[in-house]
Amino acid sequence: MVTAVVIGAGIAGLLTAKALEDRFDRVIVVERDRLPLDAEYRSGVPQGRHAHGLLLRGAQIMEDFFPGLRSELVDAGAQLMDAGHAQVLTPHGWAAQGETGLPMLSVSRPFLETAIRHRVSAEFVDGANVVGFRFDGSTVDGVRVRARDSSAEEVIEASLVVMAAGRTAKLAEWLRAAGVEVPEPVSVDSRTGYATRLYSLPHNDEVAIGQLISAPVQRRGCSATRIEGGKLLVTLQGADGDHPSNDPDEFMAFARSLDVGLAEVLSDLEPVTPIYLYARTASSMRAYEKVSEWPAGLIAVGDAVATLNPLYGQGMTVAALEAELLRSHTDFSSEGVKAFQAALAKIVAGPFGMSAGADAQWSPDFKPGLMNKVMDRWQVALTRDVDMVRRFLSVVHLQAPPTSLLRPSALWKLRSAKVSA
Ligand SMILES: Cc1cc2nc3c(=O)[nH]c(=O)nc-3n(C[C@H](O)[C@H](O)[C@H](O)COP(=O)(O)OP(=O)(O)OC[C@H]3O[C@@H](n4cnc5c(N)ncnc54)[C@H](O)[C@@H]3O)c2cc1C
Repeated sequence: MVTAVVIGAGIAGLLTAKALEDRFDRVIVVERDRLPLDAEYRSGVPQGRHAHGLLLRGAQIMEDFFPGLRSELVDAGAQLMDAGHAQVLTPHGWAAQGETGLPMLSVSRPFLETAIRHRVSAEFVDGANVVGFRFDGSTVDGVRVRARDSSAEEVIEASLVVMAAGRTAKLAEWLRAAGVEVPEPVSVDSRTGYATRLYSLPHNDEVAIGQLISAPVQRRGCSATRIEGGKLLVTLQGADGDHPSNDPDEFMAFARSLDVGLAEVLSDLEPVTPIYLYARTASSMRAYEKVSEWPAGLIAVGDAVATLNPLYGQGMTVAALEAELLRSHTDFSSEGVKAFQAALAKIVAGPFGMSAGADAQWSPDFKPGLMNKVMDRWQVALTRDVDMVRRFLSVVHLQAPPTSLLRPSALWKLRSAKVSA
């Protein structure tokens, strides 16, 4: 019996389990939380309270993995709207609105995760904390597991172990404990804080309001979208240490300080939850693909390899791209797992470069380069032309490469998009 064990039932773990299910006799997902039947918040995913925008590329891959997922979510109350209908305030004014043909799905993270989990046919061992790898020489051949309510440890043997335990994963520590040298992480921290509250919506109209944070000029932003259950998910965001608060009066004062009209919208609505905070938002990655003694029998995916500033909404989509890579990867020999990590690093590099590149502008020593000037012009162009909005969103949503922003037809339109001082 050939078994794969996946550590963590977050988005990366679930998509991994799906990618492996036809290739292994058994796929076992070990999750430290007790997994609820319904879409409920769980403490192993503290970010689950906050806005979780699903990029178009991620939504496409998930639909490919789970045909019918999108309609299931929409039938259950998720909002699906043309991305060009959103009311978005850039530092240069309102983004142009109109049809882009880009369908944007809006759901809470627990709702999406639960819908996916019900479509994964792996075995779930929940309420079980993985406390380390088991090694046979330099090969990982299982995981050591401790049930939440017991101090006894048991081993689940596997021919492949997938580390998908998210941003608190102890991958580097466990490798170092086994004598494997691990590089230090590369991090860029925009010191962004989130504060999120749900409100009850008395109607079913489309709602998607956003104010974009933009270094180094715009430290405050927000996102407010309708999600399942007739709720408005409101997340206030503050970069460069300018964090929103969980005090209701200060939360509203922060909302009023925005120019997007959010406070006016909220003043008519009933809050249905307390305000939740989150501030561990740095983009950070380790070059695991360069670890020469990387153990056979092990791969790592998702936030366990690289975390991305959530402002750019890339994490779940990167996890989906990695699962897509895994689905076509067939060689799990000691060289094969290294090749997988190398290919995964290439997937992460683009989104990491986009978010860390933008966030680096918060540093007082930052000197803008040509690309920063081009991006400024793009932000102006967004306020004028819905076709430019469509092209820009295709890149942001990881459907088109960043180089497409430099195509001659785009540059031609950017000529007149000067940034006023
Ligand atoms: C505030 C915030 C907002 C975000 N917003 C967005 C967004 O808008 N769009 C987007 O695409 N992404 C967003 N992300 C990122 C997104 O949450 C992740 O990138 C994505 O879920 C993939 O994460 P993952 O599956 O690797 O880890 P997680 O989703 O964190 O899941 C890890 C799982 O592993 C389990 N686990 C951990 N340790 C163990 C262990 N030892 N044993 C067993 N189980 C364990 C945890 O309980 C958890 O279930 C956001 C992140 C944050 C912090």
